Amino acid sequence: MSRPARARIDLDALRHNYLRARELHRGRAVAVVKANAYGHDAVRCAHALEPVADAFAVAFLSEAITLREAGIRAPILLLEGAFTAAELERASQLGIWTVVHHEEQVRMIERAPFNCTRLQVWLKIDTGMRRAGVPAAQARAYHERLRATDRVAAITLMSHFARADETAVDTTLTQIASFDAATAGLDGPRSLANSAAVLAWPQARRDWARPGILLYGVDPTGLTQHDLRPVMALSSEVFAERSLAAGEALGYGGSFVAERPLRVGLVAMGYGDGYPGRAPTGTPVAVDGQRTRVLGRVSMDMMAVDLTALPGAGPGSHVELWGARIPVAEVAASAGLLPYELLCNVKRVPVEHVEAAVAYANTGT
Ligand SMILES: *Cc1c(COP(=O)(O)O)cnc(C)c1O
Repeated sequence: MSRPARARIDLDALRHNYLRARELHRGRAVAVVKANAYGHDAVRCAHALEPVADAFAVAFLSEAITLREAGIRAPILLLEGAFTAAELERASQLGIWTVVHHEEQVRMIERAPFNCTRLQVWLKIDTGMRRAGVPAAQARAYHERLRATDRVAAITLMSHFARADETAVDTTLTQIASFDAATAGLDGPRSLANSAAVLAWPQARRDWARPGILLYGVDPTGLTQHDLRPVMALSSEVFAERSLAAGEALGYGGSFVAERPLRVGLVAMGYGDGYPGRAPTGTPVAVDGQRTRVLGRVSMDMMAVDLTALPGAGPGSHVELWGARIPVAEVAASAGLLPYELLCNVKRVPVEHVEAAVAYANTGT
C-alpha cells in the first residue's frame, strides 16, 4: 500500500463558502484564488466556482494566464497589477483586470504604445495599511489621470484593510472613513472587504467583496459563527505504535519526555508535507475521529501522536491533522503561525478533489 498521507479538497464546501460570502456582503464578489488557491489548486477551484463566481482574483499575471489556459473565462483581477508594459498589454488582450497601486503603473498606462482601451482598472488607495496603494490625498488626482488617458474602460475604487480580523480595534472604521472622504464624488464601483471584513464589518459593504481565506472555510476573526465549511482535510494514518516508559525522551532533540507510561502512534506526515514543523507537543489531532495530541518534535516525514487514551487505536487508524474535526486555525494558533501559511504550504501529499466530501465515517459522535 502507498503512503496514506493526503489532502482532500471539498469543492461543494468551497462553493457553499463563496455563496455565503456573497450573501453576507451582498453585491458581487471576486473569489481570491492567488497562491494556487491558498494551496487548494487554483485551476480545480476556479472550475468548481466558475458557475457561481462573478470574477476571480490572483496576485500576478502568470497566475491569471494559468487560469485562462485552463479554460476559465470569467474576469480575473491582478491584485498586484502589472509589473511591465508587456504584462499590461497581455492583460488587456486576455480580458484580465488590473490593480493600479503606484505611480509607475499609472505611467505605464499613460505611455503604453499599444491599445489598452479594454482595460478594467482597480485603483487601490492606501487608507492606512501603508503597504501598496496610492496616497488617499492623491486618489482624486490619480483617478483624473487615468480618466484623462482615455484608454481604460472603467475604474473601480478599492482599498485594503490592515486589521479587519481584530474586531476590538477601530482602525477598520478609520480606514473606511478615509476611503469615503478620498473618493467622495468619484464615479465607479467600490471594493473594500477582504474575508475578515465580509464576516465582521458590515460597514465595509460596497459593490465588490474580495474574499480569500473564508472561501477555504477559515474565519480569520475567530468568531466562527458564520456557517463556513472547512474545505481541506489533511489526513494520514498511524503506521506503527510503540510505548514509552516514564522518563523516556521521544524524537529529535529529546524535546518531549514522557511524564508517565504512554502509548505512541507514529503517523506518516511531517513538515516535508507542509505540516508545521514547529507545532509543539499538545497540538490537537484527531485519531479515528477522537481528539488527541501531537507528541515531541515533528520530523520531515513522520510525527508522533498520543494513543494512550484511545485503546482501539493503532496501526491503520485514520489521523486528521486538520479538517472537519480539527480546525486549521487551531493548529496554526498552536504553532504560532497563520492558517494562511499552513494552507499555502501543503506539498508532496497527493491532493484529491471531491464534489461533496463525506465526513470520515468513524466520527465518535
Ligand atoms: C489576498 C487579498 C485579499 C483576500 O484576503 P483574505 O484575508 O484571504 O480574505 C483581498 N484583497 C487583496 C488586495 C488581497 O491581496
